[in-house]
Amino acid sequence: MHPFHTHCEAALAAIEAQGRYRRFTALRKQAERFPLYRRADGSEVLVWSSNDYLGMGGHEVVIEAACEAARSMGAGAGGTRNISGTSPWHDALEAELADLHAKPAALLFTSGFVSNQAALSTILNSLPDWHVFSDARNHASMIAGIKGAKATCHIFRHNDLRHLEELLRSAPPAAPKLIAFESVYSMDADISPIGAICDLAGRYGAMTYLDEVHAVGMYGPSGAGVAERDGVAARVDVIEGTLAKAFGCHGGYIAGEATVIDYIRSCAPGFIFTTSLPPMIAAAAVASVRHVRSDAARRATLFERAETLKRRLTAAGLPALPSASHIVPLHIGDAALCSAVSRRLLDEFAMYATPINYPTVPRGEERLRLTPTPLHTDAMMDRLVAALNTILVPERRAAA
Ligand SMILES: *Cc1c(COP(=O)(O)O)cnc(C)c1O
Repeated sequence: MHPFHTHCEAALAAIEAQGRYRRFTALRKQAERFPLYRRADGSEVLVWSSNDYLGMGGHEVVIEAACEAARSMGAGAGGTRNISGTSPWHDALEAELADLHAKPAALLFTSGFVSNQAALSTILNSLPDWHVFSDARNHASMIAGIKGAKATCHIFRHNDLRHLEELLRSAPPAAPKLIAFESVYSMDADISPIGAICDLAGRYGAMTYLDEVHAVGMYGPSGAGVAERDGVAARVDVIEGTLAKAFGCHGGYIAGEATVIDYIRSCAPGFIFTTSLPPMIAAAAVASVRHVRSDAARRATLFERAETLKRRLTAAGLPALPSASHIVPLHIGDAALCSAVSRRLLDEFAMYATPINYPTVPRGEERLRLTPTPLHTDAMMDRLVAALNTILVPERRAAA
């Protein structure tokens, strides 16, 4: 046997033994019945872990836009943006996103992951002596971009301004600097102090790169993100977002100053050498972004639903973790137990919530990550609380 094959077997066995082997759960989304999905046997499952945060993936204006574009332009783009892969929908979407963030320009990528990886590595490979300051809880896609560059990397403790300043102060004053961070951290459900980080950036001459993936569509008066909500978007150099979460479609993007965006467009292999988004997806995303920008009621309902779920879990004595966002984490604290609770929710109660285990969160912080949407009703919450009480209360009594 090849040594690599032996390695794979051993590594997989170790992952399984640690209770963190990942198995897909085959669930079929139902556009018209979201958040109710269907299993292979036809039975329905109530899903609590979709990143289609606003339920826009099943919205009729989005589906119609996708169908119409597919009928007129076909399924795939047929090329990169430079090789016959630009449609009127790509241009319209970039214009819409630039306008959303009040930035001069925006650039699409095939996913949020690719946008972070490509943009960060391209920025950090541009000059010889970049210093990058990265929040300790940054998403894997940002880490991939940073690791793919020759820059000196400083990791600051999560949302810790004092530590960030210490590191900024210790770097060579003349070196180009970039602070890379997120607004809403999806696993911790907390929010970064964007304005204060921009203050530090100003003081130390650093650029700012902000991942608003878990905020676009939801935060701020027009859904442009936490930077808009806090009135600091103009101070952020590059805002990165996704079309795959609250906008319910697919694709990623960056928005910022025209020369910076044009430079990344011209130099990033992750932009140049891959087929562009299907026009039908770009058309669906334009429809979604336009709709969401003006649908403040949907945003208000999202936050009302999240607050209601937090309150109900806490009232039932269930260990909802503190959350400053629309995400509701429920503490479990053990990988095997976390997977078991998720499995029992599905098998016995026809509900699905993703178990979040190491390495996504540190060991001991295993959790269920609940994302109620505007379409989750009070009756659905009653079902969830009752099921969690049945599953978790005996577990905790046994542990005590
Ligand atoms: C999901 C996610 C991404 C990647 O976005 P995709 O469009 O799903 O590739 C980037 N950053 C963060 C923080 C994310 O959670």
